[in-house]
Formats: sequence, structure tokens, C-alpha cells
Amino acid sequence: MKAISVLGSTGSIGTQTLELAEEFPDRFKVVGLTAGRNLPLLVEQIVRHSPEVVALAEGELLAELSARLDALPKEQQPLRRPELLGGNEGLCAVAAWASADLVVTGIVGCAGLLPTLAAVEAGKDLALANKETLIAAGPVVLPALKRSGSRLLPADSEHSAIFQCLQGTPWADTARLSTGVPTPGLRRLQLTASGGAFRDWPAADLAKATVADATSHPNWSMGRKITVDSATLMNKGLEVIEAHYLFGLDFDHIEIVIHPQSIIHSMVELVDSSVLAQLGWPDMKLPILYCLSWPERLETPWRRLDLTEVGTLSFRAPDGAKYPCMALAYAAGRAGGTMPAVMNAANEQAVALFLEERVHFLDIPTLIEQVCDRHRADLSAAPSLADVLAVDAWARQAVREAAAATGRTLLTA
Ligand code: NDP
Repeated sequence: MKAISVLGSTGSIGTQTLELAEEFPDRFKVVGLTAGRNLPLLVEQIVRHSPEVVALAEGELLAELSARLDALPKEQQPLRRPELLGGNEGLCAVAAWASADLVVTGIVGCAGLLPTLAAVEAGKDLALANKETLIAAGPVVLPALKRSGSRLLPADSEHSAIFQCLQGTPWADTARLSTGVPTPGLRRLQLTASGGAFRDWPAADLAKATVADATSHPNWSMGRKITVDSATLMNKGLEVIEAHYLFGLDFDHIEIVIHPQSIIHSMVELVDSSVLAQLGWPDMKLPILYCLSWPERLETPWRRLDLTEVGTLSFRAPDGAKYPCMALAYAAGRAGGTMPAVMNAANEQAVALFLEERVHFLDIPTLIEQVCDRHRADLSAAPSLADVLAVDAWARQAVREAAAATGRTLLTA
């Protein structure tokens, strides 16, 4: 029985992880949960999973959570009353909770950084969904992994696909994951991208893209921030940096290919020119389950892939002019040091402003570029955690100021 803690249990990754725990009750038990603000769902999860510990990012909501648990009728009370914690300290305590074997990181954004580091420092294995953490703080997270011996198992479907392909090679040694050392035998990675909400839109129409347009993903059902990142293709840019840190390849050997059907989840080219791919329906439960069960594979009754039903698998190069966020991400990854942290924070802030309808869709790359340009002179090549947190805060503020300077009035969807 593997004991798991789920950070961000009320989100898309979190709820799917908990569904898996229910699907495989003999294999996984949930010992820790964390959430942001969604108390009704969190209470439901506590009742269903009876965790040992629960933390709320918004510490001031703890009293309300406690009252909601007290108010449950006797027959709905969880088997045990969990320890309730609040704030960043609480999130970190759940991440490092002694009885957990594996921590699923489903918090969105750089807010996941300190809990992720707490899990690594406690020597936990991680199922990494919260890519922003690795992107912002790769130079901090990688040495911490090396010190503690924690293993970072990729839950992102593309990186899971690469990881799965590598299992069939002599270089399956996971100790190489996230060491920054190139995986030997690996020549090139091809990350597949659905193309997001605006895949079939002419570039000229993007100026009038609304929040509703940008949050309707054609293939995947995900949280709002990552769905907007998919629409700008920043998500793929973030994944390029994530792949660089996970598998150690330089940026010239990590490519993006548009694959509208999302059936091939990514490909690896080996030194003998052979290309391996992992296929499946677009469903995050599969890569999450692989993290939970690795190195085993568990039998599932899920819908099986039928390529005759799919018919056609198509591929095309992404349009750099339509999706400037890709080039911004490559440039930030190549610059290294604090630049990915600045780019990531600028993106998080710009997307948040877009979701609040305070900037236009096309302002997102413009704001990111402005802030990255301003940071170039201050870039620190080997940042500490404090440096990463400082540039993260600076970049968010710089985006807010730059957005205010655009003089946009409140938009309507
Ligand atoms: P969601 O927005 O659906 O969920 C985010 C979770 O984080 C919720 O539990 C939310 O709590 C919690 N949260 C939000 N803000 C904070 C905060 N400041 N501190 C602590 N917790 C917070 O996101 P997703 O599940 O879509 O994505 C989670 C991560 O996984 C992201 O990094 C994303 O890039 C990555 N990912 C997601 C995929 C997907 O299919 N969804 C695929 C691949 C990667 P609450 O709702 O209670 O406020």
C-alpha cells in the first residue's frame, strides 16, 4: 500500500489523483491533502479519504473548515479527525508528512515551490504536475533532489511519455532524472502540442479572443491557468524548460510539434535514429497513475486506444509568429539562472490579469517580453531560493505596472 499526499487536491490534477485512489483502494491510501479556498469540495474529500492531515493555503479559512467538519451529521463524519494546518507552513508540513511515500504536486503556479522543496528535503518521491516550480527554481530544486535522493516522476503527459519511452532503453535509470546530466543515448525530444483553443483561428483574430474562448480547450479538461497557457502555447514553452531540467538535453534538441489529435503524447529520438513514442487517449489519469504505480503498471478497465477510430494522426510545425510565447520560453531557458523564474512569474501574472479581463489576450506575450528584457541586466546565473522568490515577486509587480501603463479599461467577455 502506497501512502500519498495530494497538494492541490481540489484542482484538476488533485481530483483525478483522488479518483485513482478510489479506483485502486488496495494500492493507494491518501494521508495528506492541501487546498486553496474550495472548502465544500475539500470537506467532501476529507469524508471520502479520511486523511491524517489537511492544510489550507488560506489559513484564515481554517476555522470555517473546522466548523464545516463539526457540522457534518454523525454518519458522514470521516473515520478520523485530520490534523488541520494553515498557510505556507501547513502546506510544507503536509508535503513532508512522515507517513507519506509519494507527494503529488497539483498546486498551480509558483505557489507550489516551497511545499515542493519541503517534500524533496523530506526525501519524498514526487509526482510532478506543478511544472512552474521546476521552471522557476530548477537551479535550487535539482541540487536539493541530489542531496535528498528524492525522485521526481513526471506527471505532465508529455514528460511521462518521454519517461515511459526511456523505460525501454538501457538508460532507464531514474537516478538520472533531474540531475541536469544529459540522458545518454538520447538525441532529441519532440514534445507534442494540441495547439490549444486557437489552433484553428487565423492569427489576425487573436486580438479579439475572450476569456471564454481561451479557456475552452479542444482536447483536455484542465484548470483555467494551464488552459490559457495552452492557448498561448506558453504551456509548451514551459514544458521545454521542464524537459531540459528533467532529461538534461540542451534546448537545441528539444522541439515542439503540433499534433491536433493529442494521441501521441511525445517522442524521443535515440542515437541510432530510432524514434519511440507513447500513445493513448488524452486523459491525465494515465500519466498520474504511472507516477503512482511506477515502476509497476496496474491493469485498468479504461477505454482502450483504437487507432482505426482515430483514423488520422497529423503533425505540423508550430507557427512562431502566431505563438510568440514559445520563443520567449526558449530564450528564457537558454538564458538560465533567474530568467525562467522571471518569465514564469510574468506569465502567471499576465494570465491572471487576462482572466480578470484587465488585459487582452495578445498583451500576455508583450508583458512577458517587456519584463524579461528589463531583467536581463540583473540576471543571476546561480540563484539561491531567496533570489528566486525575490525575482518572482519583482516580475509580478513589474507586470502589474506595465499592464496599468497600457491603460486598458475593464474588458467584457
Ligand atoms: P487547478 O486550477 O485545477 O487546481 C489548482 C489547485 O491548487 C487547487 O487545488 C487550488 O485550490 C490550489 N491552489 C491555488 N492557488 C493556491 C495557492 N496560492 N496556494 C496553494 N494552493 C493553491 O490547476 P490544475 O490541476 O489544472 O494544475 C495544477 C498544476 O498541474 C499546474 O502546475 C499545471 O500546470 C499542472 N498540470 C495540469 C494538468 C491538467 O490536466 N490539469 C496537466 C499537466 C500539468 P482551490 O481550488 O481550493 O482554491
